[in-house]
Amino acid sequence: MVTGGKARGPGWLAAIALAAACAAPQGGWDYSDLPAGLGDRAEVRNSRLFDSAPHWVPSDRGLLLFLCRWPDLAPIPVSLPQDADSRELRILRVALAAWSNAGLGIRFQEVVPDAARLEILFTPSGGGSPRGSGDALADCAIDIGPNGVVFKKGQVQARIVWASIHLNRRQADALGREMALDDDQLLGAALHELGHALGYSGHPVQGASIMQRTTDEVRKIGARVASGAPLIDPNLRALYALPSGVVVGRIPLGPDSARLLARFDASARKVDFDGPFSRVGDTRTRYFYRGDQGTAYALTATHWRPGGAQKAEIAFQANAAAQVLLRLAGPTKTPVP
Ligand SMILES: [Zn+2]
Repeated sequence: MVTGGKARGPGWLAAIALAAACAAPQGGWDYSDLPAGLGDRAEVRNSRLFDSAPHWVPSDRGLLLFLCRWPDLAPIPVSLPQDADSRELRILRVALAAWSNAGLGIRFQEVVPDAARLEILFTPSGGGSPRGSGDALADCAIDIGPNGVVFKKGQVQARIVWASIHLNRRQADALGREMALDDDQLLGAALHELGHALGYSGHPVQGASIMQRTTDEVRKIGARVASGAPLIDPNLRALYALPSGVVVGRIPLGPDSARLLARFDASARKVDFDGPFSRVGDTRTRYFYRGDQGTAYALTATHWRPGGAQKAEIAFQANAAAQVLLRLAGPTKTPVP
């Protein structure tokens, strides 16, 4: 998401700049957590990848934290909004081409909506629109075997398999007036939300990046790309310089949360649901399976920040479908893994 920000004077800006110069990682992990020298790679060091919260999977009475992205080589099947006009289609295709040429090793293939793994939609006018210029989510699929999570070379076998972007055609300006996005704003917003869909879940607290939270920076980069400049984003470059599933830490869980997760996993696997999947946002995280007709059976944690403030026990909330699943499973004596 991108939202507008109003400068409050030079003193305020200087304070922000000073704070940002030594800003600690915001995602709850650091480059020193990466295995086998991966954290020493220049692409990683020169980024704010660590401002993006990691995905997780239950493991050994705690959570195993890892990064997730789309696989290399295979084109990502993407659908454009069915109600887009020719100007909007042109801008969205510029956005897709810019990411294809951004050095990540990914590319897109335009397909009909039914065949898409990444859907781009415009939010309908009226209520319920995401704030700012839009919203995006990306689902990471985690492989499990008879012994639980599957690892290869120490990495969780996981990759993004589905993503969805909602773009607003209008956005409130600094005075709160709803204004149609101009070409550069729409391109900037599309690039930004695509960055989330590609796996960067957060917003860097410093450094030039299309993933910045402020509309000014995003529009500026949109204008540069519109004029033919390549899209260069250190944060997505860093994510795609690392293998999908690379582990960036572990955090312990309290006994109640560990038991709930173990029961949830056992129940969903017993009925052979599809999953698990992980979805991570700025502040929320969701761990879920899909049942018949795609119904999501999900556990959600809010205030998702591994490490730091998360030293207190993480509490999960089951959605309605997951509550039914857990109730049907009964108060089993599932051993905590
Ligand atoms: Zn955003």
